[in-house]
Amino acid sequence: MDEPWYSKLHWQILVGLIFAFIYAVVVRQIVGIEPVRAVPTDASTAVGAAQATVDGAVDFTRQRQTTMQTLATWRAPFAFVGDLFLRLLTMMIVPLILATVVSGIARMGSPENLGRVGLRTIGYYLITTFLAVIGGLLIVNILGPGKGLDLSIGGTESLEPTPLADVFLNIVPEQPIGAFASGDMLPTIFVAVLTGIGLLVVGEPAKPVAEFFQGFEALVLKIVDWVLALAPIGVAGLLVDTMLDPELVDLVAFLSDLGVYMIAVLGGLALHALVTLPLLLWLIAGRSPWTYAGALAPALMTAFSTASSSGTYPLTRECVTDRAGVSETSADFVLPLGATINMDGTALYEAVAAIFIANALGIDITFAQQVIIVLTATLAAVGAAGVPSAGLVTMIIVLESVGLPAEGYGLVVAVDRILDMSRTTVNVWGDSVGAAVVEAWMPSTAESAA
Ligand code: ASP
Repeated sequence: MDEPWYSKLHWQILVGLIFAFIYAVVVRQIVGIEPVRAVPTDASTAVGAAQATVDGAVDFTRQRQTTMQTLATWRAPFAFVGDLFLRLLTMMIVPLILATVVSGIARMGSPENLGRVGLRTIGYYLITTFLAVIGGLLIVNILGPGKGLDLSIGGTESLEPTPLADVFLNIVPEQPIGAFASGDMLPTIFVAVLTGIGLLVVGEPAKPVAEFFQGFEALVLKIVDWVLALAPIGVAGLLVDTMLDPELVDLVAFLSDLGVYMIAVLGGLALHALVTLPLLLWLIAGRSPWTYAGALAPALMTAFSTASSSGTYPLTRECVTDRAGVSETSADFVLPLGATINMDGTALYEAVAAIFIANALGIDITFAQQVIIVLTATLAAVGAAGVPSAGLVTMIIVLESVGLPAEGYGLVVAVDRILDMSRTTVNVWGDSVGAAVVEAWMPSTAESAA
């Protein structure tokens, strides 16, 4: 007999999100999150007006303080639960990568299989990220957000992204344990891949170690199951926390020119997530995008609430393997790498934002410069870690590549969170489609995993 709908994780998460949304909207209404500045009415004389202005300002500050305190009270329990869930997820990332990547490679049977999976994975990542950026550029060129604004940039502090060469250098950790301890995903994957290959090459003498990793994998997956059971409450907590952030979306900014910019980013993301990726999934992997998206729903909703593809990784893996039935051999190589370096949504966002900033500053971008943007946005997204706002910082690489001022990022910061949540969802969707596509390209490997 079929299980009742409410026992399914994706429905539970959806109910959690709906509850969180309603709660946050009601609290925002009751508390009045954006109090209107008090306007003095007693303005009949100049002295009276001045006094009234001072009184009004004092009233306003007091009112705002009370508002913020009330808000904090309504927000705190949810923020606590959300943080707890995020911590549990983060706690599982390094053990999960170590266990699944090492065992996954050991299951591939030969280093040549790994080489083939590796090449196809990287090919898929590059092509899809490229397609995402091109789709984004198409839409931003049609909508032209920021044109005619001629803004100037005032005192934003400057941010320094890590140079791209260092991004690649940092893949090799100075200390393996150091990489595990600091939770850096790419160096952890590097160590895990080397260990897996080593086990394949050494064979018999290293068998006890390979068996250890198999046992370790079973153990880690069990703990991940426990953590994932908390997802409905966890994502609800995170959503309330974000929606009750007084600085989430500056509504005035949203309704003004940034609104068109946001539509350009969201339109580009929708094009990629709803057209390009489903087509690839259907044509190459022969899977129904609808069914696959249904299987991925818990991961996609978690990506949206956490704005972190790394944090979502334990769920992404569970959904891709257990719910969508992709072989672990493909998933365990494609997904951890994807959560760190394959960021279709981020690359698209960086390209669209760069054009918007150029438009808003009244700087013309030539076709050649747009080509440079495609290339640097693809690479900069590789350099962005799978954590909130990472793409905002690496966007500076894109700005600088075409001579735009780095401080330009200050123009888009006000609406970043909501775009971050959306692009992270697309990032996770891109990784998950990748696992199915790479599996389809590797029939022999898929069989050897069974
Ligand atoms: N938050 C995104 C992610 O985790 C990265 C970004 O800021 O674009 O995938």
